[in-house]
Amino acid sequence: MIPTSGSYCLANVRLHRSLTPGLAAAFDSDGFALANITITNGKIADLAAHDQAEAHPGAIDLAGRIVMPCFVDCHTHIDKGHIWPRKPNPDGTFMGALNATGADRTTRWSAEDVARRMDFSLRSAYAHGTKAMRTHLDSVPPQEEISWPVFETMREKWRGRIELQAACLLGIEGVRDKAWFERLAKRVAAAKGMLGVVTYMVPDLEELLDKVFAQAIEHGLDLDFHADETDDVAAISLKKIAEASLWNGFEGNILVGHCCSLARQPDLEVLDTLDKVAKARLAVVSLPMCNLYLQDRRSDHTTPRWRGVTLLHEMKARGIKVAVASDNTRDPFYAYGDLDMLEVYRMATRILHFDHPVGDWPKAVAATPAEVMRLDGAGTLAVGGSADFIVFRGRSWTELLSRPESDRIVVRDGRAIERQLPDYAELDELMV
Ligand SMILES: [Zn+2]
Repeated sequence: MIPTSGSYCLANVRLHRSLTPGLAAAFDSDGFALANITITNGKIADLAAHDQAEAHPGAIDLAGRIVMPCFVDCHTHIDKGHIWPRKPNPDGTFMGALNATGADRTTRWSAEDVARRMDFSLRSAYAHGTKAMRTHLDSVPPQEEISWPVFETMREKWRGRIELQAACLLGIEGVRDKAWFERLAKRVAAAKGMLGVVTYMVPDLEELLDKVFAQAIEHGLDLDFHADETDDVAAISLKKIAEASLWNGFEGNILVGHCCSLARQPDLEVLDTLDKVAKARLAVVSLPMCNLYLQDRRSDHTTPRWRGVTLLHEMKARGIKVAVASDNTRDPFYAYGDLDMLEVYRMATRILHFDHPVGDWPKAVAATPAEVMRLDGAGTLAVGGSADFIVFRGRSWTELLSRPESDRIVVRDGRAIERQLPDYAELDELMV
């Protein structure tokens, strides 16, 4: 259906206002307008309202199908991905996940093992329509010496298909070993990565955060935290990160993931935290599928009572940048998942109520994470930009989000890619 080269026009496509900032058109109450897209040599040459566009000879009429820019997935763990068959989570709890993953990492994560699972994950994400991704890399010694070189090789291999970024991942206590942490920061800087830690309420949290900010400032690194992935109301490390950013005068980008406990805290505490998060210009990414899976998991076989996600609506209302992302895939932190950002958006719509109205929530899987990741031109459709987009069957939100859209067409640089999902059997020999 999509030509393989040259210049062509896709007529009568349905575009969303939040993802096409330059399009002058009358958008309906769902935020959609019918438009024509002209593609020349892999770029978007023109974007015009369907009823105002001149008829293009030979235009391909898409009869109102939704077209979205390729996805940006800003929080994943492709170093952990797909270990489930050899290391399942015994009880579905957060502690079960932490222990199982740690045991697997120390015994199984050779460079070859990590590389093969990463490549599998990237092929899945690419086939689903993702064009940029950030992964965290477990960087507890000696894993940092294994995984960072693998990441650098993988980033080169995938350049032009998936723009790959990485952040180191370690518990905040790891920062206490000053010499080692400084070496890690230097290694991350050499790989042009992001400095990341997991924060929780240790007595010296403020002091340790200062050390993290000092290293980020020294090496000019952006920051990426896992914070408060718990239902414990006493977990306020999101606020501590915002405070540390303000008193350190940090000017880089900061992305904070999870922030689950915020949804359990009293209103006054929440308001104080949100004020500081906005002032410090933190961006927040919610991981709705993983949170639903791990949070409120009960050992007595009773039913979970909350969804686990953070206060995304309240954050967005204050102008805080918000995103949703995949997080874990088929590992002890989440038994399912395939790095399909349409699935993430569909689940987020249901778990977080990204609907009635939809407003500009679609930016949370495209334009906003692109901004946080400093990717110019990703996550929107604009004249002069790369023709990287997804053509869906759905013509409305209810059609788009009711089916898996397994037959979506992914176009990269103007050409439809071959959408081949890797076969699970490829990983069988790593699972024995
Ligand atoms: Zn994560």
